[in-house]
Parts: sequence; C-alpha cells; structure tokens
Amino acid sequence: MSAALGLFRLQQVDRQMDQAQVRLSAIQKTLENDAELRAALEQVGKTGETHRQMERTLREAEALVKTQQVKIEQAESSLYGGQVHNPKELQDLQNEIAALKRFRSTLEERQLDAMLEIETTQAALQAAEAALQGLQSRRGSEQIQLIEEQASLAHTLERLGAERQAIVSDVTSLALESYERLRQKSRVAVAEISDNSCSACGTTLNAALQQTARSTLQVSHCPTCNRILYAA
Ligand SMILES: [Zn+2]
Repeated sequence: MSAALGLFRLQQVDRQMDQAQVRLSAIQKTLENDAELRAALEQVGKTGETHRQMERTLREAEALVKTQQVKIEQAESSLYGGQVHNPKELQDLQNEIAALKRFRSTLEERQLDAMLEIETTQAALQAAEAALQGLQSRRGSEQIQLIEEQASLAHTLERLGAERQAIVSDVTSLALESYERLRQKSRVAVAEISDNSCSACGTTLNAALQQTARSTLQVSHCPTCNRILYAA
C-alpha cells in the first residue's frame, strides 16, 4: 500500500465522521432547544393577549353606548313628560337631546370598529392555536425518529472511529502530522492525481512527483497547493 493511499482512506473516513458529527449536533440542538415550538407557543400567547384586550375594548364600548342611551331616554321623558312648559327650557332640552344623540353616533361607530377588529384578532388567535396543535402532533413522531437517528449515528461514529484507528496504525507519524496540519487549513488534505494533474488545484504534475505519489514510504506534495498527492 502506498503511503498516500493510507492518508487518502483516512480522509474518506474523516469526512464521514465530520458529516455524522454535524448531523448529530443538529439533532441534539433540535431536541434540546425546539425554537419552532417555542415560537408557536409565543404566537398563541401574543395573539391571545391582543384578542382579550380587544374583547375588553368592545365591552367598554358597548357599556358606553348603553349609558348614552339611558341619558337620551331620560332627557326625552323630561321633554315629553309634560312637566316642562317654559319654551326656553324646552328648547334647551331639545338641544341637549340632539347633542346626546350626536355623541351616541360617535360611540356606536367606536363599537362597530371594535366588533370588526375583534373578528381579526379572533381569526389570528385561532390560526396560532391550529398551528401549535399541528406542530405538537407532528412533534411526537418526529422526536422518536430523531432519537433513533441519533442512536444510529452514534453507532456509525463508533465504527468509523475503529476504522480510523486501523488506518492510522499503518501510516507513519510524519505523514500523519502532515495530513493533520493540511486538514486544519482546508477540508481537503489529500488530492487525487487525475489526468496528470492535482485534482484540487489543477496544476500539471511531472513524472517524478507522480512516481513518488505511488511510493510506499514517501508522500509527495503538490508544488502549488501543497496538498498530499494520491495516485489511484
Ligand atoms: Zn494542487
């Protein structure tokens, strides 16, 4: 086995381990910190608060219209009750009733606005509640799947770790150091030779370099990108 082949296989295993690790972290995060569920709960809280506020506003508006109606009825019973005869007082009463009625119209408009607004807040609250319910029923099966995947990934990582150990034991410590250093700089430490060129950067490689890449003892590096060269 060429020295580069060992490193090339090591890189394949490391990539698979990286992928498994990334997925595992994502699962962990999803399970620990369910942002979507929190957002859905918050939305129900927020829309619920707005809706209850609007219900209070509507009740207040209704009460004001009722009070105004009572004032108008009282003034009208004075006007038509027959106790007031003085024309000036009668005129005053009529003016007062007209003013009370004008304000009643304003109050009724406010009540109508609140009734329209409450339809909107009610719909928003219902939508938020439906979204939360849907999310909660999906969550049940999703969580089970994630936990299963988590276990399977842990198993995969264990197997890859053993595979890595076996490969590393066949690689010289000098080559391994070189590999680790390159891999910290870029994800690709070992580049395949294809069409007499480095597959990572495209540099054309001379025959001597390609020969060293097949050597069982030495590794050769691309003169341009410095990656370890591997000849398939
Ligand atoms: Zn290169």
